[in-house]
Amino acid sequence: MKKKNWLFIFIALLFFVALIQLFFLGIRPPGIMTIVYQDGTPVKSVNLEQVNTSYIFVVTGAEGAENVLRIETGQILMQSSTCEDQLCVHQGAIAGEGASIVCLPNGVVIEIGR
Ligand SMILES: [Zn+2]
Repeated sequence: MKKKNWLFIFIALLFFVALIQLFFLGIRPPGIMTIVYQDGTPVKSVNLEQVNTSYIFVVTGAEGAENVLRIETGQILMQSSTCEDQLCVHQGAIAGEGASIVCLPNGVVIEIGR
């Protein structure tokens, strides 16, 4: 009897997990969200697949720090930055799941969701 109960709980749990996954997949918007972080705080989220006209988004930080992002259909890039190393600018445009641009000096991170 005890064994049966455990089996029932296990099956119910599996069913529950599957249901939750279905629910989240169902409400997920088409395309992947790209999130811009400033010092670990999300300051902008955008679905690159739904961008029709490219535009500029500026992240301003302390002591005149400024990162100019260019958001285009399906890709995003750091157009200019006040940081010294310019690594983020040289990285060019990113696209696709899991890609990211990090500007360490200014604390700005662009991350395409997985
Ligand atoms: Zn940089």
